[in-house]
Amino acid sequence: MSTIRAVRVETCGAAEQMTVQNVPEPKPSAGQVRVRMSACGINLIDTYHRSGLYPLPLPTGLGCEGAGVVDEVGEGVDDLAVGERVAFAMAMGAYAEAIVLPRTSLVRIPDSVSNEQAAAVMLKAMTVDYLFNETFPLNGGETVLFHAAAGGVGLIACQWARHLGAELVGTASTPEKCDLAIRHGASHCYLSDDPELADKLRQHAPEGYPVVYDSVGKSTYRLSLGLLAPLGTFVSFGNASGPIDAVVPGELALGGSLYFTRPTLATHMARPGWMQASADRIFALISSGALSVEINQRYALDDVVQAHNDLEGRLTTGSSILIP
Ligand code: NDP
Repeated sequence: MSTIRAVRVETCGAAEQMTVQNVPEPKPSAGQVRVRMSACGINLIDTYHRSGLYPLPLPTGLGCEGAGVVDEVGEGVDDLAVGERVAFAMAMGAYAEAIVLPRTSLVRIPDSVSNEQAAAVMLKAMTVDYLFNETFPLNGGETVLFHAAAGGVGLIACQWARHLGAELVGTASTPEKCDLAIRHGASHCYLSDDPELADKLRQHAPEGYPVVYDSVGKSTYRLSLGLLAPLGTFVSFGNASGPIDAVVPGELALGGSLYFTRPTLATHMARPGWMQASADRIFALISSGALSVEINQRYALDDVVQAHNDLEGRLTTGSSILIP
């Protein structure tokens, strides 16, 4: 029996719970495609799956972003051929030499985009796409607050906001990360542990921000809430510092009839046609040069524990990929 190497988790916990194992090579059934992986995107959500914060049935594979080459198609798949380059987001099991997915989960990668670039941005850029074009649409001219501005999602957000003509004010944990965010389009970026952070952020939006995109959660919730303008929108889309304990409706009233939303990419991916349309928007931005893909960390599959420790230890910037 043919085997492939894949990351497996049998018990949730620290990064060391991940092991690389030989598992049977998956076969595509009707409507499915096997992709030989070129690169797997690494996302903070993978650490939530591994730790059990977002529970999965165990044992499980990990990783939900990647790109590769079609090497076998199942019955009924007649619009993708062996050898074509494809990418995907939000499909479990990407940390592997090969993955089998429904044809409907895959998009073709255009000539102007490499497999590594696609693997590094599909999930992250689709997230920025729905945040900026749907959750709180930016039309240009807004000043918005975005935490963790030098991260994987963050550096894409800086560039996409600039492209849309919005001013993105960011936060990050080191001066180097702040410089990086500014080089990618943030108008300003402040140290997240600056004791005068609230005052510094307020000077760019004296009446309050119309929207805060907050993926840090527990440690930034109060700060973000206090910086919103009346009728402003709190977009809570992640838990890098831990989940927010509780949202008290009365505090939304006191802040000035605030809106609170907790969006997920999965909701958007489930909408017919959305994934392909989003991929088209992302590939167009990369092709035009408006979005440069920052792959700042590359790891071998065997170094997956190091990759997670680096991401959770706040040692990374931009995108990280695993090369199987
Ligand atoms: P990042 O590359 O942004 O890494 C996470 C960053 O969070 C760190 O680099 C760090 O930046 C910051 N951070 C702040 N506090 C902490 C802390 N206590 N521990 C660790 N990190 C901290 O990750 P991703 O690009 O993969 O994801 C960014 C966020 O977006 C995540 O919260 C993720 O869950 C969320 N997300 C949500 C989606 C959705 O649809 N809801 C989809 C995709 C991502 P710094 O050092 O500058 O503080």
